[in-house]
Amino acid sequence: MQHIAFIGLGNMGGPMAINLVKAGYAVRGFDLAAEALGHFAAHGGSAARSVAEAVAGADTIISMLPAGKHVAALYLGDEGLFASLPQGTLVIDCSTIDAQTAREVGRIAEHSGLCFIDAPVSGGTAGAAAGTLTFMAGGDTANVDAARPLLSSMGRRIFHAGDAGAGQIAKACNNMLLGILMAGTSEALALGVKNGLDPAVLSEIMASSSGRNWALELYNPWPGVMDNVPASHGYQGGFMAELMLKDLGLAEEMALHSHAANPLGALARSLFEQHVAAGNGKLDFSSIVQQFRR
Ligand code: NAD
Repeated sequence: MQHIAFIGLGNMGGPMAINLVKAGYAVRGFDLAAEALGHFAAHGGSAARSVAEAVAGADTIISMLPAGKHVAALYLGDEGLFASLPQGTLVIDCSTIDAQTAREVGRIAEHSGLCFIDAPVSGGTAGAAAGTLTFMAGGDTANVDAARPLLSSMGRRIFHAGDAGAGQIAKACNNMLLGILMAGTSEALALGVKNGLDPAVLSEIMASSSGRNWALELYNPWPGVMDNVPASHGYQGGFMAELMLKDLGLAEEMALHSHAANPLGALARSLFEQHVAAGNGKLDFSSIVQQFRR
């Protein structure tokens, strides 16, 4: 049986790891937060007390961490896992991080005889729980193919975007568009409500018209319009605004390095920056609608 170490059992990593347990894999998980670890154990996972304990005897490592610095700290340097993992270990990083760090981690993994892919995801916490995520993978074809059966237990679609780091490039483009669409959807709803429309009626109209988009249809930011979204639960859970701000920063950095224009991405980043600076960083990113409701 394949033994998996899963590092980072937060809003996304928790349900992803639980789906692997449900699929019959032996999964040992670790998270710095006791609550995340307890939740995983309560759903049949094996909780480790340290990263070292989680990876002992594992043939596959999966990480789902906040940002590039966490991923680099886990794998690289004298204290990092790459110094001690057995050759041939499959390493899958599903975190959303900068492409440069993903490429560097991929380069050092290859040098150490490890099989690394970056495989960031889309689909949110609902997709993580339902096992319907989309994976955007970067790395050697053989490594991506070796990861496919595992990824299929957590998601529905697996795209091979290119070499190491390519998954992160695709993810940054997608999330820049998502940030713009969530801000735009919020602005349109707030404008309609200010002019006397019911947000649920307006949402239905726009979702059946040319303004239709994922934020409007499946993740409506207006409280009470949809039941199973963070907007109707005090913006708790979901995808934190501070993580969206991170992703818009990654897209902006990428645009700077490649001399690409990103005026709308930069505008969305500035909106999320104000929102996070006002103390809303831990709320779901759809809470950006509050910036338009004042
Ligand atoms: P989260 O903050 O809920 O989870 C991250 C977890 O990592 C936390 O539980 C934290 O305690 C743990 N952690 C941090 N450093 C650690 C370490 N050294 N060892 C072990 N555990 C450690 O965040 P999340 O929403 O699960 O997001 C994780 C990643 O997935 C991010 O890169 C995010 O951008 C990306 N992502 C999130 C969503 C979403 O909807 N939440 C969607 C797609 C992608």
